[in-house]
Amino acid sequence: MSSSEEFRRYSRQILFAEIGAEGQRRLSQARVALVGCGALGSAQANALARAGVGFLRIIDRDFVEESNLQRQVLFDEADAQEALPKAVAAERKLARINSSIRVEGVVADLVPQNAEALLGDCELILDGTDNFETRGLVNDVAVKLAKPWVYGGVVASSGVLMPIVPGQTACFDCLLEGAGATGAEETCDTVGVINPAVNWVAALQVSEALRLLLGKWKFEQARMHRGDLWRNHFQSSPVPKPRPDCRTCGAREFRYLSGEAQPQITLCGRNSVQIHERGRRLDLAQLRERLAAHGTVRGNPFLLRLWVSPYELTVFADGRAIIGGTKDPAVARSLYARYIGS
Ligand SMILES: [Zn+2]
Repeated sequence: MSSSEEFRRYSRQILFAEIGAEGQRRLSQARVALVGCGALGSAQANALARAGVGFLRIIDRDFVEESNLQRQVLFDEADAQEALPKAVAAERKLARINSSIRVEGVVADLVPQNAEALLGDCELILDGTDNFETRGLVNDVAVKLAKPWVYGGVVASSGVLMPIVPGQTACFDCLLEGAGATGAEETCDTVGVINPAVNWVAALQVSEALRLLLGKWKFEQARMHRGDLWRNHFQSSPVPKPRPDCRTCGAREFRYLSGEAQPQITLCGRNSVQIHERGRRLDLAQLRERLAAHGTVRGNPFLLRLWVSPYELTVFADGRAIIGGTKDPAVARSLYARYIGS
């Protein structure tokens, strides 16, 4: 982009004194990884693409469903009908929003085997995940490679977010240790979520992201925010310092990255189980022919879906599968073995 084109496109942002032409150039060279492209990830990616951040890597393991459309702003009805992977649908939509940046959609689960490769060449990581295991893994990589990330979470009408800057702030593990053991968590699958809560958290995460990318972030000004948009309760507190006794940022034990804390099978809400089967690529065309004998099969170049009442199997080309209709890992395992192979 020439500088006059750049000025036309981003004029309102360049006029903003904290950014200016120099800041805009910096954003155009920035590289950001977004982990998860559901509600938070969609809103973050939309904002960063429009702001002209030069490279976005969007990592997501899931596909678009009708019930996502209420809050996941990058997707539309056609994406849901085709059951497109969110990373693919996001990449396509963002290319139409801003063709001058690069967007790389990665259809994958962030796991210890790929986490350093997928996050290591970006300068900032944004949290759009919905589970503590993946956040633990992001935190391990961020601390190990000294990269900032912005934690965020939403449920019902409430949200929380905090910038995590290794060496300066508490890490995610420091926060958990401080909070004590967590029991059963409320999730969007059990108590729902309203879209203004998503947009509030994403907006604050993106503000942190811009300050970090522009080199304007300061520990003294950093805050942890919590809010409930329905009850109009908001609080913000100074970001805590690292805990000296933290196993992750203190002792540098990376338990998620070493695979110690990563289960092979995870419950992913909405009455379904995910089976991780990496290192085993599937020929989807061949599989589709084989599965047609067992039930209704639909697919696109990225995944296949098989309905065998009362279950729904969604199989990705990397061998991963999401088994709907059960919360029992043993049932999911046996369905996988029966239809995909053991
Ligand atoms: Zn820590």
